[in-house]
Amino acid sequence: MSASPIETRLFINGKFQAIDESQTFDLHSPSTGEFIAKVPEATAKDVDAAVAAAKAAFPAWSALSPKERSVYLARLGVLFAEHSAELAQLEAKSMGRPVTSFFDAGAASDYFRYFSEAAYPMGTSSLNTPGFVNMGVKQPYGVCGIIIPWNAPLIFFSKKGAAALAAGNTVVLKSSEKAPLTCAKAAELVAKAGFPPGVFNILSGHGAAGAVMSSHMDIRIISFTGSTRTGRAIQKAAADSNLKNCIFELGGKSPALVFEDADIEQAIQATVPSIGWNSGQTCFANSRIYVHKSIAQTFIEGFKTKFMSAKLGDPTQAGTTQGPQADKVQHETVKRYLALAEKSGTKITEDLPNVSGLYISPTIFTDTPEDAQIMKEEIFGPVVHINTFEGEAEAIAKANDTEYGLYASVFTKDIDRAMRVSKQLEAGTVGVNCSSPTKGNDMPFGGWKGSGIGRESYIGGVESFMEDKAVLIKVAPL
Ligand code: NAD
Repeated sequence: MSASPIETRLFINGKFQAIDESQTFDLHSPSTGEFIAKVPEATAKDVDAAVAAAKAAFPAWSALSPKERSVYLARLGVLFAEHSAELAQLEAKSMGRPVTSFFDAGAASDYFRYFSEAAYPMGTSSLNTPGFVNMGVKQPYGVCGIIIPWNAPLIFFSKKGAAALAAGNTVVLKSSEKAPLTCAKAAELVAKAGFPPGVFNILSGHGAAGAVMSSHMDIRIISFTGSTRTGRAIQKAAADSNLKNCIFELGGKSPALVFEDADIEQAIQATVPSIGWNSGQTCFANSRIYVHKSIAQTFIEGFKTKFMSAKLGDPTQAGTTQGPQADKVQHETVKRYLALAEKSGTKITEDLPNVSGLYISPTIFTDTPEDAQIMKEEIFGPVVHINTFEGEAEAIAKANDTEYGLYASVFTKDIDRAMRVSKQLEAGTVGVNCSSPTKGNDMPFGGWKGSGIGRESYIGGVESFMEDKAVLIKVAPL
């Protein structure tokens, strides 16, 4: 079969593989239901071939100096920026993200350029043991497996891929079955950037391919972003195979605390896009908002007005601010949670007119009991729970009453309160008077508790993909 007009082929050892029609799945548009492309389902044999290629490429790639490796990364960064518009259309087609809220190619470009210039992690040395000079050195693991979700594929492709490659690893990356198109297009850009064959292999497929990677004996580290449930499965497979290292960015149920002295408008401007962007399919979305009782009414009115101003429509068209949920499964999951939420809280919004297909109207619930299932589990839709509090300790206790710990926001003008509360929040990132993670690559990103293991995104993100080694040098006495 000839290549489909939209690139979907597996990219192994620097070559696009011919598509075996018996090993494909169909991708449909979540907004129109139309058929988009046949996508290869990577088999265990494909995973083996990709890992073998990455293993063979590792000695030469890791022997390059960071500066030599950086040339390839920087080239790929430029190519992402150049293909931004095309990538936006592909993401809109496959998982329904409106082109107007697609900044992922820019972020991918930044990650590859940033990690191409990132300072190379330094080792340590010690004279503390008499008769020895000791050195601590950092070295790449070898073959790195990367498994990514569908909600922002290129961001995970690049924050993980760029750091792993900069550290000197070679990579086998599997995209999500719901959003494989931008990663397949990225494979074209990898080829164009001239990476040596086998250094960066890109696969598509369902969880089964990820499971083969997780238990593969020649993969030394897995970096995974996705659900906590899948994270657990990967860690078990890692433990049962070669005890490979794992870096996990998992789910969230991120709280925002809006204190009585907060700039209410600022809090609204931050929290609405946090839960509304990407149809609520964002891991760090402020899905639980706790507002001081004295300002609750004003906050809720303002929040509702802005939240309900979403323009639902065709994600490939400018002007649409909210697309459909990523696929039928996601849509059904959110619907199920909505039915559950209506039983425990008070729904204060009406559905927007003409909401059909896989679209979900922005929805607000108030007064939901803290122990309700809906307050504990990630919905991954444009659905927010707004509850109230009266004191600081109560607000913190409610915020922390979750198995997750990815992100939390605090809105207050009181710097002492901001510092005090930030310290007590159990989350990998705390936004003070904001709801977004760092955009400057200067801060680690990752989760506490059930939201993850390890950190990525910043300079330490390179170290996450390196092993420490102690070299002990015995020095003969005079
Ligand atoms: P998912 O766990 O279902 O799938 C993620 C990836 O894992 C996909 O590529 C999938 O094919 C693969 N996979 C599925 N089963 C597997 C298995 N047994 N072994 C190995 N790989 C397997 O998650 P999703 O639905 O794609 O993504 C949504 C989840 O991701 C949400 O929970 C969200 O919070 C989380 N997420 C977290 C972050 C973060 O930075 N913390 C960012 C985005 C999304």
